[in-house]
Amino acid sequence: MNYIGRFAPTPSGDLHFGSLVTALASYLDAKQQQGKWLMRIEDADQPRVKPGSIDSILQCLDALGLHWDTLCYQSEHLKDYADILTQLVREERIYACECTRAQIASRGLVGQAYDGQCASKGLSLNKEHLALRIKLDARARAVRWQDTLQGYQEHNLHQQTGDFLLRRADGLPSYALTSVIDDWLQGVTHVVRGMDLLAATAPQIHLRQLLNQPTPQYAHLPLAVTPEGLKLSKMSHAKAIDWKHPVRSLREAFQFLKLPIEDIPAEENQQNHLNWAIEAWKMNRLENLQQISWPGQTESDTP
Ligand code: GLU
Repeated sequence: MNYIGRFAPTPSGDLHFGSLVTALASYLDAKQQQGKWLMRIEDADQPRVKPGSIDSILQCLDALGLHWDTLCYQSEHLKDYADILTQLVREERIYACECTRAQIASRGLVGQAYDGQCASKGLSLNKEHLALRIKLDARARAVRWQDTLQGYQEHNLHQQTGDFLLRRADGLPSYALTSVIDDWLQGVTHVVRGMDLLAATAPQIHLRQLLNQPTPQYAHLPLAVTPEGLKLSKMSHAKAIDWKHPVRSLREAFQFLKLPIEDIPAEENQQNHLNWAIEAWKMNRLENLQQISWPGQTESDTP
């Protein structure tokens, strides 16, 4: 099998420890299997893009020696997303939705399955300010996959998400749509990413089923959390990776990934560290772990 893996950061800030761990695990897994490792900048959601962060993410990965085989930007794929939406419209798998956030909230549905209120309204699909939702079919009652790390998964989308968004009311394609189309068109065979995206996987697999595409192999890594149990992110003030000390940053991420770092002297350079890790990598050391508390990675919990 030709392994194609990827790292797909949203450029909403600098690379932090949690994103470095994901980048590294996906890189090591691909390289150990002589596969390709793609870099995809997920900049389709323009309001989330922080100026300067694309350069800072790429510069950091490069300084750590994590060299990608190809680099692409979602903002270059807007036509692909529009074309697939057109196809799904033609196949009558989509309807337009005029519910505002406030209306959804007033029906008590924040964080819950959409109730299908607009499904039978027959709103015009050509109005640009209307969101577009997928019509779930019977297969969505039991979306199943075997996650390499988290084991057997079965999700009922009718209960969990309802008819989920493919295009938002602001006209931007949804994350479910962009990531499925990109993984498909880029031939991605293995998706290695954080546990925070486990719930997003079932909608993605369902969409793939509608597009007659095979499901890639998914592995959801334990999340690095603060001592208070918060995911490392901009919200929890996660620190940027110190790329001026690449070996130190790599060793800490290796430790999180349960690589036996005592086997490689800290004096070795980063390339030797990476070559060693490609050999030593065993994903199953992380099986069934959902989160790992990792102090010292936010501005507030620095020792
Ligand atoms: N862009 C997403 C993020 O930065 C990751 C998407 C994915 O790996 O599918 O959290």
